[in-house]
Amino acid sequence: MKAVAVFPKSREVRVITDAPEPRLRSPSEVRVRTLEIGVCGTDKEITDFKHGAPPDKEDFLILGHEALGEVVEVGEAVPGLKPGDLVVPRVRRPCPHERCAACRHGYPDFCVTGDYTERGIQKAHGFCAEFFVEDAAYLHRVPSHLREVAVLTEPLTVAEKALRELEHLKERLPWETKAGRAVVLGAGPVGLLGAMALMRAGYSTTVYSRSPKPNAKAQAAEALGAPYLSSKEVPVEELQRRAGPIDVVYEAAGASKAAFEVLRVLGPNGAFIFTGVPGRKEPLQLEGAALLKQLVMNNQVVLGTVNAADTDFDAALEDLERFQKRWPGQLQALITRRHPPEEFQQVVSGKSGGIKHVITFK
Ligand code: BGC
Repeated sequence: MKAVAVFPKSREVRVITDAPEPRLRSPSEVRVRTLEIGVCGTDKEITDFKHGAPPDKEDFLILGHEALGEVVEVGEAVPGLKPGDLVVPRVRRPCPHERCAACRHGYPDFCVTGDYTERGIQKAHGFCAEFFVEDAAYLHRVPSHLREVAVLTEPLTVAEKALRELEHLKERLPWETKAGRAVVLGAGPVGLLGAMALMRAGYSTTVYSRSPKPNAKAQAAEALGAPYLSSKEVPVEELQRRAGPIDVVYEAAGASKAAFEVLRVLGPNGAFIFTGVPGRKEPLQLEGAALLKQLVMNNQVVLGTVNAADTDFDAALEDLERFQKRWPGQLQALITRRHPPEEFQQVVSGKSGGIKHVITFK
């Protein structure tokens, strides 16, 4: 079958046509025909050979971790799924170690050993192939009316996990009854979906990103009702003045310099949530003492979050439905273009512009 794969040793990314077609190996598995694959910054890191790895003893990795597919075959022990159903798969699989309580309890997103696998990223083939097989326990059924936008489920789960953690953090401030003010750093798909999730949760949300207006990302943010400010035109002190005391920063740019600048203007009792996975950059100089004093004197929380649990996928699917009603057409507008698998490399290079690019197998 056709698949898009990365070969780290020969430093190649290409379509292969001889990938073995996967078959059911256990009664709890499901065979899925791939419909769409979202391409993201992590794919860029992988195809730049800075992140991820092929499965042990193999020299290539099939890419693709943001997937939407259609069930074609179900094992005998699979309840609740049938051929024709739409599904999205989770990405991370638990490590094998008994001592990892997080993995043993179904939260591989909090794995402590680092020996987890991630489909399409870390030592497990991904979904950018005509078919994939997955255990039903890692699949989420998608209502058919979400067909056009469900490829956005996985990037939205990043925000769902962050919001779930934010809810716990808010228990520190029992007198705060309102959600407060949020700033989203970066206006790519993770940023814009994060802005939608924060607005849904009641945060008054500003999007702060590099490119000056007018551009597609600014237009998408403003169509949601979120002011868009460019860091090239509005310095961070001005951001603080315009957005008001910032309760939450949702960082979705993976740009460390910009992130630490914005951390300086986080409001009292605020939370700064990092979700971006930056590539290697030049060292940064920080005013460490001033930053520590600021964090301590303001009870601030800095939180990193990666991957997502099954509840976050369920929450993302529910939110996609809410977003469709609240902002008709805006989820679709995040998907700039759909491409054949042969264009993966061009898409991942980032030269195509726009917001989200999707590979389609139809
Ligand atoms: C994916 C996560 C993954 C992370 C690190 C992100 O792009 O959405 O599922 O855990 O990369 O590999």
